[in-house]
Amino acid sequence: MKITCEEASHICTKSQYNEASFWEVLKLRLHVLYCKACAKYSKKNTQLTSLCDKAGLTSLTENDKECMKRDLEKRL
Ligand SMILES: [Zn+2]
Repeated sequence: MKITCEEASHICTKSQYNEASFWEVLKLRLHVLYCKACAKYSKKNTQLTSLCDKAGLTSLTENDKECMKRDLEKRL
């Protein structure tokens, strides 16, 4: 379930050409939730930011993100 930062950026690139599958985008979204480096990167990177907008990530509240994170940790 966990992906590396390298995979995350690869999926991000693919998604810009609409080549990423739903599952890949989901994994990327989850990665950004637990990976501080990529979360930081996504703030700087407008392409990843627009991807996150598309994925609805930015519409989540901090509380929602915490819940998702906790839920994810339970499953791992
Ligand atoms: Zn990362």
